[in-house]
Amino acid sequence: MLDEIKKDATQNHVQWNGEDRYSVTGRPSEPRVVDIGKRTCACRRWEITSMPCRHAVDAIWFKATNG
Ligand SMILES: [Zn+2]
Repeated sequence: MLDEIKKDATQNHVQWNGEDRYSVTGRPSEPRVVDIGKRTCACRRWEITSMPCRHAVDAIWFKATNG
């Protein structure tokens, strides 16, 4: 599971916003706020497809590697 996530994780900058919220900033894209607890992302792809988008993957990976 984590290996799969790691494979997809990008080098986006992730910042913890408190509780389950993370701010994920990609190189060309605007910062997206991901809520791991609610399984939502500002890009809405996670809600629509039920598959974690790249921002969500980065946030989950950040959480896994930073406790
Ligand atoms: Zn997203």
